[in-house]
Amino acid sequence: MMNYICYDCSSRYSLESNKWKCDCGGLLNLEYEKKPVDFTKTSLSRDHSLWKYIDALPFEKEDVWQEITLGEGDTPLIKISENVFAKAEYYMPTLSFKDRGAVLLIAIAKKLGVERVIADSSGNAGTAIAAYGARAGIQCDIFVPDSTSSKKIKQIEAHGAIIHKVPGTREDTARAAIAMVENTQSFYASHIYNPIFWEGTKTYVYEVFEQMNGKMPDVFIIPVGNGTLLMGAYIAFQELMENGQIIKMPKILAVQAENCAPIVKSFTEGKYTVEPVEGSGTLAEGIAIAAPARGTEILEAIRATGGDIIGVTEKSIVLARKELALKGIYVEITSAANYAAYLQYVEKYPELNNQQVVFPLCGAGLKSN
Ligand SMILES: *Cc1c(COP(=O)(O)O)cnc(C)c1O
Ligand SMILES: [Zn+2]
Repeated sequence: MMNYICYDCSSRYSLESNKWKCDCGGLLNLEYEKKPVDFTKTSLSRDHSLWKYIDALPFEKEDVWQEITLGEGDTPLIKISENVFAKAEYYMPTLSFKDRGAVLLIAIAKKLGVERVIADSSGNAGTAIAAYGARAGIQCDIFVPDSTSSKKIKQIEAHGAIIHKVPGTREDTARAAIAMVENTQSFYASHIYNPIFWEGTKTYVYEVFEQMNGKMPDVFIIPVGNGTLLMGAYIAFQELMENGQIIKMPKILAVQAENCAPIVKSFTEGKYTVEPVEGSGTLAEGIAIAAPARGTEILEAIRATGGDIIGVTEKSIVLARKELALKGIYVEITSAANYAAYLQYVEKYPELNNQQVVFPLCGAGLKSN
Protein backbone atom coordinates (compact mmCIF):
# COMPACT_ATOMS: atom_id res chain seq x y z
CA MET A 1 0.00 0.00 0.00
CA MET A 2 1.24 3.42 -0.89
CA ASN A 3 -0.61 6.70 -0.66
CA TYR A 4 -0.29 10.44 -0.34
CA ILE A 5 -1.09 11.90 3.07
CA CYS A 6 -1.84 15.55 3.78
CA TYR A 7 0.71 17.31 6.00
CA ASP A 8 -2.06 19.46 7.52
CA CYS A 9 -5.17 17.28 7.93
CA SER A 10 -3.87 13.72 7.33
CA SER A 11 -6.38 13.02 4.54
CA ARG A 12 -5.17 10.16 2.37
CA TYR A 13 -5.24 9.92 -1.43
CA SER A 14 -4.29 7.10 -3.76
CA LEU A 15 -1.49 7.73 -6.25
CA GLU A 16 -4.04 7.16 -9.03
CA SER A 17 -5.97 10.21 -7.78
CA ASN A 18 -3.39 12.40 -9.57
CA LYS A 19 -3.55 14.81 -6.60
CA TRP A 20 -0.71 17.24 -6.07
CA LYS A 21 -2.36 19.07 -3.17
CA CYS A 22 -4.97 18.15 -0.57
CA ASP A 23 -8.55 19.38 -0.93
CA CYS A 24 -7.84 21.44 2.22
CA GLY A 25 -4.96 23.14 0.40
CA GLY A 26 -2.33 21.24 2.41
CA LEU A 27 0.79 19.69 0.91
CA LEU A 28 1.13 15.97 0.42
CA ASN A 29 3.66 13.56 1.88
CA LEU A 30 4.13 9.89 1.00
CA GLU A 31 3.22 6.92 3.14
CA TYR A 32 4.30 3.35 2.38
CA GLU A 33 5.95 0.26 3.85
CA LYS A 34 9.72 0.47 3.58
CA LYS A 35 12.35 -1.95 4.77
CA PRO A 36 15.69 -0.89 6.25
CA VAL A 37 18.62 -0.87 3.86
CA ASP A 38 21.20 -3.57 4.55
CA PHE A 39 24.32 -1.47 4.01
CA THR A 40 26.73 -4.39 4.43
CA LYS A 41 25.02 -5.88 1.38
CA THR A 42 24.62 -2.72 -0.69
CA SER A 43 28.26 -1.73 -0.14
CA LEU A 44 29.26 -4.91 -2.00
CA SER A 45 26.67 -4.53 -4.74
CA ARG A 46 27.84 -4.33 -8.32
CA ASP A 47 24.82 -2.16 -9.07
CA HIS A 48 26.40 1.28 -9.08
CA SER A 49 23.19 3.26 -8.95
CA LEU A 50 20.69 4.37 -6.34
CA TRP A 51 18.58 1.32 -7.22
CA LYS A 52 20.72 -0.85 -5.00
CA TYR A 53 18.61 0.67 -2.19
CA ILE A 54 15.43 -0.80 -3.70
CA ASP A 55 14.29 -2.19 -0.31
CA ALA A 56 13.75 1.36 0.92
CA LEU A 57 12.26 2.75 -2.29
CA PRO A 58 8.58 2.81 -3.36
CA PHE A 59 9.06 0.16 -6.07
CA GLU A 60 9.36 -3.59 -6.44
CA LYS A 61 12.63 -5.23 -7.45
CA GLU A 62 11.16 -6.13 -10.84
CA ASP A 63 9.41 -2.96 -11.87
CA VAL A 64 9.15 -0.16 -14.43
CA TRP A 65 12.23 1.62 -13.09
CA GLN A 66 14.38 -0.94 -14.85
CA GLU A 67 13.28 0.40 -18.25
CA ILE A 68 13.90 3.99 -17.19
CA THR A 69 17.11 4.08 -15.16
CA LEU A 70 20.17 5.76 -16.69
CA GLY A 71 22.51 4.55 -13.97
CA GLU A 72 21.92 7.57 -11.71
CA GLY A 73 23.43 7.67 -8.23
CA ASP A 74 26.52 6.27 -6.51
CA THR A 75 28.38 9.54 -7.11
CA PRO A 76 31.96 10.00 -5.87
CA LEU A 77 32.90 11.57 -2.57
CA ILE A 78 35.88 13.83 -3.19
CA LYS A 79 38.25 14.63 -0.35
CA ILE A 80 38.71 18.40 -0.12
CA SER A 81 40.77 18.40 3.08
CA GLU A 82 41.30 16.16 6.12
CA ASN A 83 37.65 16.26 7.29
CA VAL A 84 35.85 17.86 4.39
CA PHE A 85 34.28 15.99 1.51
CA ALA A 86 32.40 17.08 -1.59
CA LYS A 87 29.84 14.75 -3.11
CA ALA A 88 30.06 15.10 -6.86
CA GLU A 89 26.45 15.11 -7.98
CA TYR A 90 27.46 16.47 -11.38
CA TYR A 91 28.35 12.86 -12.29
CA MET A 92 24.64 12.27 -12.82
CA PRO A 93 23.15 11.48 -16.27
CA THR A 94 21.81 15.03 -16.71
CA LEU A 95 24.64 16.56 -14.65
CA SER A 96 22.74 17.48 -11.49
CA PHE A 97 21.35 15.75 -8.39
CA LYS A 98 17.79 16.24 -9.68
CA ASP A 99 18.13 12.89 -11.48
CA ARG A 100 17.72 11.17 -8.10
CA GLY A 101 14.17 12.42 -7.75
CA ALA A 102 13.24 12.63 -11.43
CA VAL A 103 13.89 8.96 -12.15
CA LEU A 104 11.47 7.94 -9.37
CA LEU A 105 8.85 10.48 -10.34
CA ILE A 106 8.85 9.46 -14.01
CA ALA A 107 8.88 5.78 -13.09
CA ILE A 108 5.73 6.33 -10.99
CA ALA A 109 4.12 8.28 -13.85
CA LYS A 110 4.95 5.41 -16.21
CA LYS A 111 3.50 2.91 -13.77
CA LEU A 112 0.30 4.94 -13.59
CA GLY A 113 0.04 4.91 -17.38
CA VAL A 114 0.54 8.67 -17.69
CA GLU A 115 1.23 9.90 -21.24
CA ARG A 116 2.03 13.53 -20.54
CA VAL A 117 3.58 15.36 -17.60
CA ILE A 118 4.01 19.01 -16.74
CA ALA A 119 6.82 20.46 -14.64
CA ASP A 120 8.24 23.85 -13.75
CA SER A 121 11.81 24.45 -12.76
CA SER A 122 14.68 26.90 -12.69
CA GLY A 123 16.37 24.49 -15.10
CA ASN A 124 17.91 21.37 -13.62
CA ALA A 125 14.75 19.64 -12.41
CA GLY A 126 13.15 20.34 -15.78
CA THR A 127 16.15 18.87 -17.55
CA ALA A 128 16.02 15.73 -15.45
CA ILE A 129 12.26 15.30 -15.96
CA ALA A 130 12.71 15.84 -19.72
CA ALA A 131 15.47 13.24 -19.97
CA TYR A 132 13.65 10.52 -18.04
CA GLY A 133 10.40 11.47 -19.76
CA ALA A 134 12.08 10.88 -23.12
CA ARG A 135 13.42 7.57 -21.87
CA ALA A 136 9.94 6.53 -20.70
CA GLY A 137 8.15 7.74 -23.83
CA ILE A 138 6.19 10.35 -21.88
CA GLN A 139 5.56 13.79 -23.37
CA CYS A 140 6.91 16.60 -21.15
CA ASP A 141 5.87 20.22 -20.96
CA ILE A 142 8.55 22.11 -19.03
CA PHE A 143 8.00 25.65 -17.75
CA VAL A 144 11.08 27.76 -16.97
CA PRO A 145 11.66 31.44 -16.22
CA ASP A 146 12.76 33.16 -19.45
CA SER A 147 15.97 34.20 -17.68
CA THR A 148 17.08 30.55 -17.33
CA SER A 149 20.59 29.76 -18.58
CA SER A 150 20.40 29.03 -22.32
CA LYS A 151 22.55 25.93 -21.78
CA LYS A 152 19.85 24.41 -19.59
CA ILE A 153 17.10 25.33 -22.06
CA LYS A 154 19.02 23.65 -24.89
CA GLN A 155 19.49 20.56 -22.77
CA ILE A 156 15.74 20.38 -22.06
CA GLU A 157 14.81 20.90 -25.72
CA ALA A 158 17.28 18.26 -26.85
CA HIS A 159 15.26 15.67 -24.95
CA GLY A 160 12.19 16.55 -26.98
CA ALA A 161 10.29 18.36 -24.27
CA ILE A 162 8.06 21.30 -25.09
CA ILE A 163 9.57 24.31 -23.39
CA HIS A 164 7.49 27.20 -22.08
CA LYS A 165 9.56 30.28 -21.23
CA VAL A 166 7.69 32.44 -18.76
CA PRO A 167 8.54 36.12 -18.21
CA GLY A 168 8.75 37.37 -14.64
CA THR A 169 9.66 35.54 -11.47
CA ARG A 170 10.13 31.86 -10.67
CA GLU A 171 6.72 32.06 -8.96
CA ASP A 172 5.12 33.27 -12.21
CA THR A 173 6.59 30.18 -13.89
CA ALA A 174 5.05 27.92 -11.24
CA ARG A 175 1.66 29.61 -11.65
CA ALA A 176 1.74 29.09 -15.43
CA ALA A 177 2.58 25.40 -15.01
CA ILE A 178 -0.14 24.86 -12.42
CA ALA A 179 -2.68 26.58 -14.68
CA MET A 180 -1.86 24.09 -17.45
CA VAL A 181 -2.02 21.17 -15.00
CA GLU A 182 -5.50 22.27 -13.93
CA ASN A 183 -6.72 22.97 -17.47
CA THR A 184 -5.50 19.70 -18.94
CA GLN A 185 -5.79 17.46 -15.86
CA SER A 186 -2.22 16.30 -16.55
CA PHE A 187 0.20 14.65 -14.15
CA TYR A 188 2.14 17.35 -12.32
CA ALA A 189 5.72 16.04 -12.23
CA SER A 190 6.66 18.60 -9.63
CA HIS A 191 9.84 18.15 -7.61
CA ILE A 192 8.31 20.54 -5.10
CA TYR A 193 4.80 19.18 -4.61
CA ASN A 194 5.24 15.49 -5.36
CA PRO A 195 6.84 13.79 -2.32
CA ILE A 196 8.04 10.85 -4.42
CA PHE A 197 10.89 13.12 -5.49
CA TRP A 198 12.28 13.06 -1.92
CA GLU A 199 12.35 9.28 -1.93
CA GLY A 200 15.00 9.68 -4.62
CA THR A 201 16.95 12.51 -3.05
CA LYS A 202 17.16 10.63 0.27
CA THR A 203 19.59 8.19 -1.38
CA TYR A 204 22.16 11.02 -1.30
CA VAL A 205 22.47 10.39 2.45
CA TYR A 206 22.43 6.58 2.13
CA GLU A 207 25.39 6.83 -0.22
CA VAL A 208 27.38 9.10 2.09
CA PHE A 209 26.66 6.76 5.02
CA GLU A 210 27.89 3.81 2.99
CA GLN A 211 30.90 5.63 1.55
CA MET A 212 31.96 6.57 5.08
CA ASN A 213 31.75 2.94 6.15
CA GLY A 214 28.58 3.18 8.19
CA LYS A 215 29.46 6.39 9.96
CA MET A 216 27.61 9.64 9.45
CA PRO A 217 29.53 12.86 8.97
CA ASP A 218 28.82 15.42 11.71
CA VAL A 219 27.49 17.97 9.26
CA PHE A 220 25.73 18.08 5.91
CA ILE A 221 25.89 21.43 4.17
CA ILE A 222 22.82 21.64 1.95
CA PRO A 223 21.61 24.37 -0.43
CA VAL A 224 17.98 25.38 -0.20
CA GLY A 225 15.78 26.64 -2.95
CA ASN A 226 12.69 24.47 -2.69
CA GLY A 227 14.43 22.13 -0.29
CA THR A 228 14.21 18.89 -2.27
CA LEU A 229 17.71 17.71 -1.34
CA LEU A 230 17.24 18.93 2.22
CA MET A 231 13.92 17.15 2.72
CA GLY A 232 15.28 13.95 1.18
CA ALA A 233 18.27 14.10 3.52
CA TYR A 234 16.02 14.65 6.51
CA ILE A 235 13.81 11.68 5.56
CA ALA A 236 16.93 9.51 5.33
CA PHE A 237 18.12 10.68 8.79
CA GLN A 238 14.71 9.81 10.26
CA GLU A 239 14.66 6.37 8.64
CA LEU A 240 18.17 5.55 9.83
CA MET A 241 17.28 6.69 13.35
CA GLU A 242 14.06 4.65 13.37
CA ASN A 243 15.94 1.58 12.16
CA GLY A 244 18.58 2.03 14.85
CA GLN A 245 21.30 2.43 12.21
CA ILE A 246 22.41 5.77 13.64
CA ILE A 247 21.93 7.10 17.16
CA LYS A 248 22.26 10.80 16.45
CA MET A 249 21.12 12.98 13.59
CA PRO A 250 23.84 14.80 11.68
CA LYS A 251 23.40 18.57 11.61
CA ILE A 252 21.97 20.24 8.55
CA LEU A 253 23.80 23.49 7.91
CA ALA A 254 21.77 24.99 5.11
CA VAL A 255 22.54 27.81 2.70
CA GLN A 256 20.66 30.27 0.52
CA ALA A 257 21.84 33.14 -1.60
CA GLU A 258 21.71 36.24 0.58
CA ASN A 259 19.86 38.03 -2.25
CA CYS A 260 16.99 35.54 -2.09
CA ALA A 261 16.81 34.10 1.42
CA PRO A 262 13.25 33.65 2.71
CA ILE A 263 14.13 30.66 4.91
CA VAL A 264 17.13 32.43 6.45
CA LYS A 265 14.82 35.29 7.35
CA SER A 266 12.19 33.13 9.05
CA PHE A 267 14.78 31.00 10.82
CA THR A 268 16.61 34.03 12.17
CA GLU A 269 13.36 35.57 13.35
CA GLY A 270 12.44 32.33 15.13
CA LYS A 271 9.36 31.80 12.97
CA TYR A 272 7.69 28.53 11.96
CA THR A 273 6.34 29.61 8.60
CA VAL A 274 7.99 31.34 5.66
CA GLU A 275 6.88 34.61 4.12
CA PRO A 276 7.81 35.27 0.49
CA VAL A 277 10.63 37.78 0.04
CA GLU A 278 11.34 40.23 -2.74
CA GLY A 279 14.49 38.70 -4.23
CA SER A 280 17.04 41.24 -5.47
CA GLY A 281 18.47 38.89 -8.09
CA THR A 282 21.17 36.27 -7.68
CA LEU A 283 23.60 34.44 -9.95
CA ALA A 284 22.59 31.29 -8.07
CA GLU A 285 19.54 30.67 -10.28
CA GLY A 286 19.09 27.12 -8.95
CA ILE A 287 18.25 28.35 -5.46
CA ALA A 288 16.51 31.63 -6.30
CA ILE A 289 13.18 30.66 -4.73
CA ALA A 290 11.49 33.66 -3.10
CA ALA A 291 8.34 31.80 -2.01
CA PRO A 292 9.23 28.17 -1.15
CA ALA A 293 6.05 26.07 -0.94
CA ARG A 294 7.58 23.71 1.64
CA GLY A 295 8.97 26.43 3.91
CA THR A 296 7.38 25.12 7.11
CA GLU A 297 8.74 21.61 6.60
CA ILE A 298 12.20 22.92 5.71
CA LEU A 299 12.38 24.98 8.92
CA GLU A 300 11.20 21.98 10.91
CA ALA A 301 13.90 19.75 9.41
CA ILE A 302 16.74 22.21 10.04
CA ARG A 303 15.66 22.72 13.65
CA ALA A 304 15.17 19.00 14.31
CA THR A 305 18.84 18.38 13.51
CA GLY A 306 20.05 21.28 15.64
CA GLY A 307 21.10 22.91 12.41
CA ASP A 308 21.36 26.41 11.04
CA ILE A 309 20.89 28.33 7.80
CA ILE A 310 22.89 31.26 6.43
CA GLY A 311 22.91 33.46 3.36
CA VAL A 312 26.00 33.87 1.17
CA THR A 313 26.87 36.92 -0.88
CA GLU A 314 27.16 37.05 -4.67
CA LYS A 315 30.84 37.88 -4.32
CA SER A 316 31.53 34.88 -2.12
CA ILE A 317 29.71 32.59 -4.57
CA VAL A 318 31.80 33.78 -7.51
CA LEU A 319 34.98 33.47 -5.46
CA ALA A 320 34.10 29.97 -4.26
CA ARG A 321 33.45 28.86 -7.84
CA LYS A 322 36.91 30.09 -8.83
CA GLU A 323 38.54 28.38 -5.87
CA LEU A 324 36.86 25.05 -6.62
CA ALA A 325 37.85 25.27 -10.27
CA LEU A 326 41.45 25.80 -9.20
CA LYS A 327 41.16 22.54 -7.27
CA GLY A 328 40.02 20.83 -10.49
CA ILE A 329 36.31 20.98 -9.69
CA TYR A 330 34.10 22.86 -12.14
CA VAL A 331 30.56 23.48 -10.90
CA GLU A 332 27.68 25.62 -12.06
CA ILE A 333 27.45 28.95 -10.27
CA THR A 334 24.60 27.88 -7.98
CA SER A 335 26.68 24.98 -6.66
CA ALA A 336 29.50 27.26 -5.60
CA ALA A 337 27.18 28.63 -2.90
CA ASN A 338 27.71 25.39 -1.00
CA TYR A 339 31.46 25.82 -0.77
CA ALA A 340 31.03 29.51 0.02
CA ALA A 341 28.76 28.37 2.85
CA TYR A 342 31.34 25.94 4.15
CA LEU A 343 33.95 28.73 4.32
CA GLN A 344 31.49 31.01 6.11
CA TYR A 345 30.32 28.32 8.53
CA VAL A 346 33.91 27.55 9.57
CA GLU A 347 34.22 31.18 10.63
CA LYS A 348 30.91 31.01 12.49
CA TYR A 349 31.57 27.62 14.13
CA PRO A 350 35.35 27.07 14.47
CA GLU A 351 34.64 23.59 15.92
CA LEU A 352 33.83 22.52 12.34
CA ASN A 353 37.59 22.35 11.79
CA ASN A 354 37.55 19.12 13.80
CA GLN A 355 34.34 17.68 12.41
CA GLN A 356 33.47 15.74 9.31
CA VAL A 357 31.60 17.85 6.80
CA VAL A 358 30.04 16.90 3.46
CA PHE A 359 28.81 19.41 0.91
CA PRO A 360 27.30 18.65 -2.51
CA LEU A 361 28.55 19.66 -5.93
CA CYS A 362 25.00 19.87 -7.25
CA GLY A 363 25.44 20.75 -10.92
CA ALA A 364 28.12 20.72 -13.64
CA GLY A 365 30.08 23.85 -14.55
CA LEU A 366 29.10 23.72 -18.20
CA LYS A 367 25.45 24.32 -17.28
CA SER A 368 26.14 27.98 -16.50
CA ASN A 369 26.42 30.53 -19.27
C1 LIG B 1 17.86 22.32 -7.54
C2 LIG B 1 19.20 22.82 -7.22
C3 LIG B 1 19.53 23.29 -5.94
C4 LIG B 1 18.55 23.45 -4.82
O1 LIG B 1 17.68 22.43 -4.65
P1 LIG B 1 16.25 22.64 -4.06
O2 LIG B 1 15.71 21.31 -4.17
O3 LIG B 1 15.50 23.63 -4.87
O4 LIG B 1 16.41 23.13 -2.66
C5 LIG B 1 20.83 23.66 -5.71
N1 LIG B 1 21.76 23.61 -6.66
C6 LIG B 1 21.48 23.19 -7.90
C7 LIG B 1 22.56 23.19 -8.92
C8 LIG B 1 20.19 22.78 -8.23
O5 LIG B 1 19.92 22.35 -9.46
ZN1 LIG C 1 -5.50 18.30 3.99
